[in-house]
Amino acid sequence: MGEAPAFFEEDLQGDFSDGFDLKSKGLETATVVGDKIYVIGGTDDESTSTIDVRILYKSTGEWVIPTVLGTKPKLSKGHSAVLLNEDRILIVKGDSTPDDCVWSLEVDTKFVREHNNNFETEVVAWSRGVKGDVEKPIVISGPSGVGKGTLISELMKEFPSMFGFSVSHTTRGPRDKEKDGVHYHFTERSLMEKDIKDGKFLEFASVHGNLYGTSAEAVEVVADAGKRCILDIDVQGARSVRASPLEAVFIFICPPSFEELEKRLRARGTETEEQIQKRLRNAKAELEQGQSPGLFDHILVNDDLDTCYKNLKKLLCLDGSSGITTPKSLPKMFVLPLDNSISKIDQKILMNCGTAKIEKASQLMFVLDVSSLKGGAPGRTRGLNFYAIDPFADGLNGIRQLS
Ligand code: ADP
Ligand code: 5GP
Repeated sequence: MGEAPAFFEEDLQGDFSDGFDLKSKGLETATVVGDKIYVIGGTDDESTSTIDVRILYKSTGEWVIPTVLGTKPKLSKGHSAVLLNEDRILIVKGDSTPDDCVWSLEVDTKFVREHNNNFETEVVAWSRGVKGDVEKPIVISGPSGVGKGTLISELMKEFPSMFGFSVSHTTRGPRDKEKDGVHYHFTERSLMEKDIKDGKFLEFASVHGNLYGTSAEAVEVVADAGKRCILDIDVQGARSVRASPLEAVFIFICPPSFEELEKRLRARGTETEEQIQKRLRNAKAELEQGQSPGLFDHILVNDDLDTCYKNLKKLLCLDGSSGITTPKSLPKMFVLPLDNSISKIDQKILMNCGTAKIEKASQLMFVLDVSSLKGGAPGRTRGLNFYAIDPFADGLNGIRQLS
């Protein structure tokens, strides 16, 4: 809580229905959502390097500093703000790099509402905007020892530029050849529990007595690299991802028999007898849950490894049949001029660019189409679509997609 700064009263006159710039500071915007005014921007504190958020309740005049989830955007020399769907504020930063120019501050999304109960203050969440979409991640589940890891490494070896592995966090200790940051992020329970509370995980589960989880970042870094993400997670995790906004393809791997599963688990030689017994007990439940209607899109039996691998490639359309999907390199965005000003019409945000920082920028108006936005906190906001309009050109010739 605090007092409204001096500039505030005279600047907050008029209609704030879609967010607008606070002229007096240039670095701050105020956006009205119901009874709350979200003031976004730097403070007088020179040491602050990220964009701060404060909330003013219109009816009571109270200030609240919210709990901010997600990675905060770095301060820029100004930004514009526009309210989308009453639940998020889109920020367009001036003078920023291509992958740092659009951010979304979620104020009333499902993710924010889910985390409101965990904290005593208001909760908001940042999500970085990314141009274009990515292919659906692939979730691979199945009992321990069935061959998930073996199949995934085959896939990554054969198609290194196409797939990337989501590196999970776990509280279990590393096996002999396992490397931190490659096979898992090996971590401590208390640290992981704190990150879970802070909304950094897409899903987590207690598996065979340890905590395992997929951070939003683990999936997003793969997508940022233009690759399709593969997740190796247990059935509880698959269920959580199914219930989350992340759209994915779900594949369950079955052993040919329980005896064969036991043989493989012992032959791998990475667990003690006690741990093997625990994994086998859990396998029974997992094999049952794997058949749950609507949970998995595909079930593959891993009897002969080569045959199973061929079947996996077939269902991912990697066997030369139709639908081969090569990774799209992520298109570049442009650097927005410093003095951008924006307005919103339906699902299109118009940006006037007055400073020539890119070729012909002084003649261009940019349109940010937000009709197909996907994702959001705790991951990236994807599906941003930019067009440039040259107001001096006629008809459709004046519109071109930026790439
Ligand atoms: P998971 O990742 O599901 O726990 P792994 O990929 O580690 O399982 O496989 C467990 C063991 O079984 C490994 O030693 C692996 O080499 C072996 N394995 C995997 N698939 C087969 C198969 N189809 N036939 C025989 N052994 C297999
Ligand atoms: P392991 O200890 O053999 O590497 O993995 C044990 C189990 O944990 C496997 O079934 C594996 O799929 C699952 N697992 C690994 N990472 C994750 C994760 O991030 N989330 C969940 N829910 N399960 C995971």
